[in-house]
Amino acid sequence: MDYIKAIENYKQLQGHKALQLRAVLFDMDGVLFDSMPYHADAWSRVMTDAGFNFSREDVYMNEGRTGADTINTASLAQFGKPATEELIDELCKAKCALFDTYPPTPRMPYALELVLKVKACGLTPMIVTGSGTPTLLDRIQSNFPGLFAEGHVISSFHVKRGKPYPDPYLLALERGGFAPDEVIVVENAPLGVTAGVAAGLFTVAANTGPLKDEVLSQAGANLVFPSIEALCNEWEKLFNEING
Ligand code: CA
Repeated sequence: MDYIKAIENYKQLQGHKALQLRAVLFDMDGVLFDSMPYHADAWSRVMTDAGFNFSREDVYMNEGRTGADTINTASLAQFGKPATEELIDELCKAKCALFDTYPPTPRMPYALELVLKVKACGLTPMIVTGSGTPTLLDRIQSNFPGLFAEGHVISSFHVKRGKPYPDPYLLALERGGFAPDEVIVVENAPLGVTAGVAAGLFTVAANTGPLKDEVLSQAGANLVFPSIEALCNEWEKLFNEING
């Protein structure tokens, strides 16, 4: 992969003279936790039971949206009207309840090593997630002890408009006190990439799911890695190229 070219393209598009990294904004599901197979199962089952046409692949294509937005988008597309608040509430609760019956979500391989490397470079790691699953948020501290400060975790509880809107990433910049040319985003899903790019941020994708790499490039990812392990192995090189 040509890091220099990707960085130059980004700087030119955004009008930045140079990038000076101070923080890395991590998406959570499919990046820090290998939770997407469970989310795909739970969402597709709950939505199908409620009369929607909703496959596991649909879950990956909608990944990053809040639960309410996922349901609303499907309702508009399939029934031509938004979902009622009662239905949204009912399905979100059913999905969370089903998700909680699954075994504990494992940490994504090499995610801890990557966050430790980010810290060792003197950067601030933050989490920007569309998730509102309380169990996962609780598990951040046990799986990444002391690595994410409480105010540095942005979830669906903090924003009205989730991904693919840039709002969660813009809030992360505000909370952390960072400028767009001081951070990079790590995402695994097309709508997450769209959100990072819409916020004007250098967005790195790690393709940890079943979709094709092109789906992530077409969403605007500045670089696409095949896994978090690959990104972790390349971290020092990428960091040095970004900081010039
Ligand atoms: Ca994700």
